[in-house]
Amino acid sequence: MLKIYNSATRKIEEFVPRVEGEVKMYTCGPTVYHFAHIGNLRTYIMEDVLEKTLELLGYKVTRAMNITDVGHLTSDGDTGEDKMLLGAKREHKSVLEIAEFYTQEFKKDCEKLNIAWPKIVVKATSCIQEYIEIIKVLLEKGYAYGAGGNIYFDVTKLKEYNVFTNHQAENLKVGVRETVEEDKEKRNPNDFVLWFTKSKFDSQELKWDSPWGVGYPGWHIECSGISLKYLGEYLDIHCGGVDNKFPHHTNEIAQSEAYLGHKWCNYWVHGEHLNVSSGKMSKSSGEFLTVALLESKGYQSLSYRLFCLQSHYRNQLVFSYEGLDMAQSAYQKLKNRVKALNSQEKGEFDEQKYNIFLEKFKSALSNDLNTSLALTTLYDALKEDMSAKTKLELVKKFDEVLGLDLLKEEKAEVDEEFLKYINQMINKRLEAKREKRYAEADEIRAELQGKGVYLKDTPNGTEFEIKK
Ligand code: AMP
Ligand code: ZN
Repeated sequence: MLKIYNSATRKIEEFVPRVEGEVKMYTCGPTVYHFAHIGNLRTYIMEDVLEKTLELLGYKVTRAMNITDVGHLTSDGDTGEDKMLLGAKREHKSVLEIAEFYTQEFKKDCEKLNIAWPKIVVKATSCIQEYIEIIKVLLEKGYAYGAGGNIYFDVTKLKEYNVFTNHQAENLKVGVRETVEEDKEKRNPNDFVLWFTKSKFDSQELKWDSPWGVGYPGWHIECSGISLKYLGEYLDIHCGGVDNKFPHHTNEIAQSEAYLGHKWCNYWVHGEHLNVSSGKMSKSSGEFLTVALLESKGYQSLSYRLFCLQSHYRNQLVFSYEGLDMAQSAYQKLKNRVKALNSQEKGEFDEQKYNIFLEKFKSALSNDLNTSLALTTLYDALKEDMSAKTKLELVKKFDEVLGLDLLKEEKAEVDEEFLKYINQMINKRLEAKREKRYAEADEIRAELQGKGVYLKDTPNGTEFEIKK
């Protein structure tokens, strides 16, 4: 049984999905105006671990994620500029070009960090009609109003608005934290825009027709719209980073529940931030910490995943190169220990011990995703007096969640000279074959094989694989 901290109740709770054995999970996706920083990726690692833990515990998980390509303003509220537009201006490209490029870059980062790409990934701009339908209902039900050209959600129409905090004042403060001028059209400070038709930034590139005029959706409506469309009207788990609690998730709940007329999501899971020693991580000031930057400094991307797994997702984590050095060294040692097991006598599989360690591992993760305890279980298993076969089976199972590629052999580094030699030999062999000097062609194949290079003739030519 999974126990997880639910931000909505501020308690660790037993997780019970609405439908036995099945989990509907929604995770807020990236705003694709720039590369993801490693702080963003910490949240996606946490969500990945949660999804894989649920699968390890036997649940069938359906997970959806949005790609924010419109409407996310620099303030997270209704003030500031659209981040997508800023990105497009910065790079002298169109919003669509920027969105496409950074979506692919984000996908690559996820692959490098073994973050599974959700089965359902949806661009915010692909569901405009769905948002319009929700907004129509909110207007009909009296939760929304039009003013000065925009459509707003009236938060005072709800029985409860501040779901994640007891402190109304704290939220109000955040709601008006921007120094930019207040929107005079709002009836209440926390009211938020569902649909913009009028705004300070006329240069907005993407606009759509709506019953209220040509415009574009607010940021919050996209996650409600996508979740309702792809996961239905009941959601088990919704995740994001802590900064999403307010206003984004608070507003998602407000509009979804007002629209549905019932409770929408049962568990809210938020990951704490990764910070730098000077404070908040940023894409625009200080060192822009990306996976590519870490790689360029010689770090393996999975060392960063291990760095994250070593701490609890609900604790703030401060990034430092010293910390990452330690994680990298721990990662290499771990890989070497697993590699050593592979070259040992495998021995008999010990089912009893396997089950004991697997239960320990599951119990660590079931305890509000205690990944550092799960890692300790891995180390304990490696130390235990049991066969290499049993250990390797455990490593394989644990790695389904840890995602550290512990059993994957590193590809041999091939130097340029060697590659040149292989290509020369392949050409020589092709020439020999063409001239029907088959014995010579076979000799060349054998010579390469002796050096660990295996040839395969395909309709597209000769391919080769280097085996150690
Ligand atoms: P964004 O692309 O800005 O919409 O953010 C993507 C995800 O990263 C969201 O779930 C944010 O809550 C999360 N996030 C933003 N900054 C950090 C950080 N410093 N540490 C961890 N997660 C973050
Ligand atoms: Zn969202």
